[in-house]
Amino acid sequence: MHVLVVEDDSPLAESIATAMRAQGWRPDVSARGEPVPASLLKDSYDVVVLDIGLPGIDGLETLRRVREQGSTLPVLMLTARDAVDDRVRGLECGADDYLVKPFALSELLARLRALVRRHELRRSETLILAALRFDAAARRAFIDEQPVHLSARECIVLQYLMLKTGSVVPRDQLAALVPGWDAGTSANALELLISRLRAKVEPGGVRLRTVRGLGYLLEPAQSA
Ligand code: CA
Repeated sequence: MHVLVVEDDSPLAESIATAMRAQGWRPDVSARGEPVPASLLKDSYDVVVLDIGLPGIDGLETLRRVREQGSTLPVLMLTARDAVDDRVRGLECGADDYLVKPFALSELLARLRALVRRHELRRSETLILAALRFDAAARRAFIDEQPVHLSARECIVLQYLMLKTGSVVPRDQLAALVPGWDAGTSANALELLISRLRAKVEPGGVRLRTVRGLGYLLEPAQSA
């Protein structure tokens, strides 16, 4: 993952970058908001961490300029205090999430992973696998153009599995996408959801496999 970290507190910026490198991510660190809009245009970032309190133009103004340029990149804002004003203004300026300092680095990484996944889901439009088609805009699935009746949770899990067709998706990644669930949600709840989903989608010529100890894999039935 290519991440831009805009934070003028250099020890904090460095510890964030170190934690990201340990995950195999590629962080670029900037201490100022000002060059950000230009660098966002030429570099391909997956996600941006943006501090509100910056020298020069602050994080809110930076974000406003980034959004003005039409960028839909996911942005997580850092705020020094638990100020409702800053959070509200951040969300109004187009922030996707925010974190109040001080925070645990593991929490920051988990939030960023979830943001990137949600962004991938928004970008996907129509996904097709064998006779199964998922229309992201309508949030509906079809088999041979016949609607498949899915719950909201089944919908989001199917969309992500289709996006990752042929790859094993870890259980905690899937659970983190489901509203109201997180990595602590019991494996049984997810397995139950998967088995209901399997019964609904497998008639479409796909196979939804449980890869024991790892996660779930969606693939065309004939490759089994
Ligand atoms: Ca700051």
